[in-house]
Amino acid sequence: MDAKFLDILVCPLCKGPLVYRKAEQELVCKGDRLAFPIRDGIPMMLESEARELPAEEEVE
Ligand SMILES: [Zn+2]
Repeated sequence: MDAKFLDILVCPLCKGPLVYRKAEQELVCKGDRLAFPIRDGIPMMLESEARELPAEEEVE
């Protein structure tokens, strides 16, 4: 995924920065502990699409 593209993406809920997890193809918001999936290179920036991170899952 294009790094520039990543720069402009923020969490739709808190407008905070997102962490790109290449292996999982997810964009993670640390504040909300939500992981937004990337499907076919397109980030699904919808709360309804996001996965809630379990408490034990460490966010870098
Ligand atoms: Zn957020």
